[in-house]
Amino acid sequence: MKIKEILLCKYGEIVLKGANKNFFEDTLCSELVRRAKRFGNFSVYRAQSTVYIEPMDEDADLDGMLSSASKVFGIAAITRAAECEKSLDAILQTARDYLPPLLGGARTFKCEARRSDKTFAYNSMELSAELGYVILQAMPGLTVDVHRPDVTVRVEIREKAAYIHAGQLHAAGGMPVGSNGRGLLLLSGGIDSPVAGYMMAKRGMRIEAVHFESFPYTSEMARDKVLRLAKLLTEYTGDMYVHVVSLTKIQEELSRNCEEDYFTLLLRRYMMAIATKVANRCGCQTLITGESLGQVASQTAEAITVTDAAAGVPVLRPCIGMDKEEIIQLSRKIGTFDTSIEPYEDCCTVFTPRHPRTRPVLDKVLLQEKKLDFNALVDEAFAGAYRVKISYDD
Ligand code: ATP
Ligand code: MG
Repeated sequence: MKIKEILLCKYGEIVLKGANKNFFEDTLCSELVRRAKRFGNFSVYRAQSTVYIEPMDEDADLDGMLSSASKVFGIAAITRAAECEKSLDAILQTARDYLPPLLGGARTFKCEARRSDKTFAYNSMELSAELGYVILQAMPGLTVDVHRPDVTVRVEIREKAAYIHAGQLHAAGGMPVGSNGRGLLLLSGGIDSPVAGYMMAKRGMRIEAVHFESFPYTSEMARDKVLRLAKLLTEYTGDMYVHVVSLTKIQEELSRNCEEDYFTLLLRRYMMAIATKVANRCGCQTLITGESLGQVASQTAEAITVTDAAAGVPVLRPCIGMDKEEIIQLSRKIGTFDTSIEPYEDCCTVFTPRHPRTRPVLDKVLLQEKKLDFNALVDEAFAGAYRVKISYDD
């Protein structure tokens, strides 16, 4: 018998939403619809706190769609399920054909039936019992364990059809991207900032990125690496713009006019001021950085205070309380680590002071800053910014 498989996506935190739940569901579904185009002809619809992704012809790539959907924030778990007609015969026949390969590694199982269509002739208890009987017949090696089964087989009788599945995959969790504001990620080529972008996208933020370069002190390869990191992030964030800003002149002016110990701090204040302008232009309410408390001299509480004072919008630092090891683990999980460790220079690593200030005081930093026309340099760098569209589909 030919079995038709579909994907059932179960909501994460969206289920907790009240009056505006629809908005979150719409945001989630439109992301899934957009992604599905890449994998063929699918129908995406929702009912009873589940999103259904149904292949509409033989060529639709269900495995590809599953892998992509598992990176869509807002979905807590995804299940591959066999769809069949809502009759006991069809359900049991489908179970006989569909389940054995899925239960191959298991020794114990239990059945759970759920009827959201209460007109179905058998109640949940009867359905579970029938299903269990069929499974035991088809796979005599299995035994029932209702307390701690290796696998739980589920049958759901829903509006349109019945669905049978065994085991579900953890998905990305979080909230649908686009449901919680817009943030501008300061994206370097390092390990931390891609992780920071991932974390805020997970909470539903739509992400744009700004990258600062210092050509010719930093290379085209360094920029290319950052664009490749952004591309990897689009698997989670969807399409994004990367704004590229040159800090070459600012860095040269700093090194000519200011005390070396303050270079990094001053530069970071320029970054914040320029990023604020970019954020205002592209409708982002916040900046996002990969800073982690105490990781380097510019990330002590005092240094962050000084840096923060130059930003005109809130700065979110989702990695602030994480150890480097934890950040690395996450960066491996999301697939950015190998690219992040490619050895190209960053504008923060050219003109670095030998003895950076770790306990800076704002007044003293401002004294240094006043040696240059801060606003004019910020405006000039901002005026030279250009943006690159990074598309999930390319
Ligand atoms: P990362 O691993 O992301 O490079 P880091 O640990 O190297 O971070 P810093 O170089 O001090 O730390 O940078 C701290 C944060 O400042 C970065 O996480 C990033 O958000 C931002 N940042 C640093 N360099 C750049 C850059 N060239 N362009 C955009 N943002 C940057
Ligand atoms: Mg860095």
